[in-house]
Amino acid sequence: MTAAASNSARQILTRLHEVMASRMHAQGKLDQVVETIGECLTSEVCSIYLLREGMLELFATRGLNQEAVHVTRMAIGEGLTGVIADNVETLNLAEAKAHPDFQYRPETGEEKFHSFAGVPIVYRERAVGVLCVQHLDPRRYEEIEIEALQTTAMVLSELIANAELVDEEEALGLSPTQSGQQTISGLTLVKGLGAGIAAYHQPRVQITQVMADDIEAERERVYRAFDKMREQIDTLAGQAEFGIGGEHEEVLETYKMFAYDEGWSRRINESIDSGLTAEAAIERVQQHTRMRMREIDDPLLADRMHDLEDLANRLLRIVAGQIGTAAQQGLRKDTILIARNLGPAELLEYDKRRLKGVILEEGSLTAHVVIVARAMNVPVLGRAKSLRGIVREGDEILLDATAATATVRPQSQVAEVFAQRFAKSREKQATYATLRDVEPFTRCGTRIQVMMNAGLRDDISSLALTGADGVGLFRTEFQFLVSATLPQRERQLRLYRDVLDAAGDKPVIFRTVDIGGDKAVPYLNSDIAANDENPAMGWRALRLALNREGLMKAQARALLEAAAGRSLYVMFPMVSEPWEFDDAKAVFEDQLKFLRSKKKRVPEHVRYGAMLEVPALAEVLDLLLPKLSFLSIGTNDLTQFLFAADRGNPALAERYDWLSMPILRFLRRVIRSNVGSDVEIGVCGEMGGRRLEALALLGIGYRRLSITPAAVGPIKELVRKVDLNEISAAMETWLANPETNLRTELTAWAAERDIEVD
Ligand code: PEP
Ligand code: MG
Repeated sequence: MTAAASNSARQILTRLHEVMASRMHAQGKLDQVVETIGECLTSEVCSIYLLREGMLELFATRGLNQEAVHVTRMAIGEGLTGVIADNVETLNLAEAKAHPDFQYRPETGEEKFHSFAGVPIVYRERAVGVLCVQHLDPRRYEEIEIEALQTTAMVLSELIANAELVDEEEALGLSPTQSGQQTISGLTLVKGLGAGIAAYHQPRVQITQVMADDIEAERERVYRAFDKMREQIDTLAGQAEFGIGGEHEEVLETYKMFAYDEGWSRRINESIDSGLTAEAAIERVQQHTRMRMREIDDPLLADRMHDLEDLANRLLRIVAGQIGTAAQQGLRKDTILIARNLGPAELLEYDKRRLKGVILEEGSLTAHVVIVARAMNVPVLGRAKSLRGIVREGDEILLDATAATATVRPQSQVAEVFAQRFAKSREKQATYATLRDVEPFTRCGTRIQVMMNAGLRDDISSLALTGADGVGLFRTEFQFLVSATLPQRERQLRLYRDVLDAAGDKPVIFRTVDIGGDKAVPYLNSDIAANDENPAMGWRALRLALNREGLMKAQARALLEAAAGRSLYVMFPMVSEPWEFDDAKAVFEDQLKFLRSKKKRVPEHVRYGAMLEVPALAEVLDLLLPKLSFLSIGTNDLTQFLFAADRGNPALAERYDWLSMPILRFLRRVIRSNVGSDVEIGVCGEMGGRRLEALALLGIGYRRLSITPAAVGPIKELVRKVDLNEISAAMETWLANPETNLRTELTAWAAERDIEVD
C-alpha cells in the first residue's frame, strides 16, 4: 500500500467509523455504508447482501432499484454474489456478463452496469454476506479499491456480529450445504469411525474489533507480538523435535523466513496506519496474500501459504492474548480435532468423552501421539494436506479413519451411509465383546497370551472389558507426560497401587520410565537432552534413568511399595547391553533391601524383564536371557533402529513394512535363541495388534502378544481360527524365499481360510 492508498483507506475507515459510532439502527448503518463506499470508490452501485435463511438477500444498495431490497435473493453458489460467498473469494471483473455464473435479476435494474467487484463478508471464517460495487464502464477495479472493499467487509462483519444481523447458527455453517461437501484423504493411523465438529488444536482468533481507537497503541502491540513470535520460532528451532532434519527443518526454515520477513510486518503496519486494529490488520494482510496465492497455481507455493497461515494465526493469537489450545478452552461438543502435529502430552489433555477423532497433517503409525490415541480408542487420520484451506472451525466432519478419509460438511446421503457403517462397526465391536470371557486357544489347541498395553489409570478398566490376560506393557511415562512437574514418589505410588488394585489377579508389567525421544518432558530438559541431535537414539529411557539415579530410585520405591504383598513385574526399556539391565535391577534390589531393613512390607516376588528394542541386544541374548523372567520386543523402536528410519518421520511412515523379510527373520532368530529356556518372550509393539502381522508372529513362534485394548477382541477372534502348524509351515516357506511378498501371501492365505485380517 502506498502512502496515498493508506490515506484513502484511512479516509474510508474514518467515515465508516462515524457511521458505526452513530446511534442509527443496523439497517440505517448499512444504507450509509453503501453510500459511503459508492462515493469513495466513485461507483454507481454499491450493494450489501447478507445471509438469511440460507439465501443471500439484498440488504442495502446504492444504485440498484430500491424495490429490490429484501426482495432479491440468491442461493449460495448462484450468480456472482453466490459464487463469492461459496468460494469465500473476491471477484474483480471488467465485464460481469462475461462470467459464466452471471445471472441477471430484472428487479434490480442492473443491466446497464458493466464492471463488477465483490468481496465476501466473513464471520467466523464463513461468508455470511457479500459487499459489491458495480460501474457503468467496463473497467477492472484497482488493487487499492479492492483492499478498501475488503476492509469495509471486515467492518461490516463486526457490525453484523454486534447487531445480530445474521443468524448465529447459520453463520456457524450448521446448514451443511453452505460451502459444499469436501473429502480429505490421508493415511490410516488409528482405525475407526468418528463424527463431530472440527476444532483446531490451535484455534483461530475471532476478531471482535476492527477499527482502532489508538493507532500508536496498535502499532506497539503488533511490534511486541512480532518480537514474541520470532522468539518462539527461534526456541522451536532449538527444540529436539525440530532439530532432526527432514521435513521439520524445512517447515522451520519457512517459518523463520516469514517470521523475519520485513515486507510482511510492513504491510501489517500500513494496515494499522489506515485505522485497523492489530488483529484486523494481520487478518487483512492475510486475506490479501491468500487472494494473490490463489491466482498462482503452484502446489509448492500452496504449501508455503499453509505455513504462512499457521504463522499468521500464531501472530494473531499472541496479539489477542489467546494462547490456549482447544483442550484448554474445553470441548463443548463431540469433536474431531485438527492439527499439524501433536505431542502425546497435548493429546492427553483432551476430554476423552468429547474427542471423537483426530486429523493430522503429519503423523506416523508409531509416533507416540498415535499410540496414545490408539490407547484412547480415538481414530486418527494422518498425512492429510492443506487442512486450513478446507476445514473451518465448527464444520461438521465424518471421519472414517479405516478408509483413510474424512468428509467435511457432508451431504445427507453421505451422512446416511456413514451412519450405517457406524452401526455396523458397533455391531462388530459387540461381537468382539462376546469374546471377552473366551480364552484364546488356537484351532490346534495352543493357548495364546493376549495381553494389553496401558499407560493411564483409566485404561485398566479395559482389562475387564476385553478379557485380556493382563497388562503386558504399562507405560509409566504417561504420568510424567501429563504432569507439569516431575511426579513425586507419593504420586507415583498412588497410581501404581490403583493400577494393581484395579487389575486384581491379572499381572501388570510396569515398564520403567521411557522419556526422551518423542516423549520429551519440559522439566527434565537438561543440557544433555537439549543438545541431543537425535533424541530417539540419544539420552532416553534407561540411559537417562541410570544417569538420574534419584529418578530411578523414586520409581523403584514407589513400585515396590505399591506391590507390597503381591507380585511385581518390572521391565526396563531400551536395554542395549546386559550390564544396563544389571544396573537397573540393582537399583530395585537396593531399594528392596532398604525397605526390608525398615521392616516395611515388600512384594512377594519381583520379576525382572527387559525390552528388546535395540538390535545389538539380540547378539547377546545368550548372556542376557538367563538373567530374565521375560523379554518383550518393542517392535516400534526395533523397527526404527533396524531400518534406521525415524518412527515419527511422516515421510517414512509408509516406507517400511512390518511384514518384511528383515523384521520377520530377525524376530524369528530371537524367538529361536530362546529354545530350552523358560523365559517368556512376547511382542508389545503396535505390530502385534494388527491381524495380518499377528498372524505372521504366530507363524514364527510367538505365543504372547501385548497390544492396544481395542485390538484384543479382533486378535482373539483371529487366534481361534488359526492352526499353528499350518501357518508355521507357510511362514517357513515364504521366509526361505527372499522374493516373497509376505503381505500378499498372508492375505491370500487368510482369505482361503475365511480369516478376517483387514
Ligand atoms: C516399542 O518401542 O515397540 C514399545 C512398545 O515402546 P514405545 O512404543 O513406548 O516406545
Ligand atoms: Mg519403545
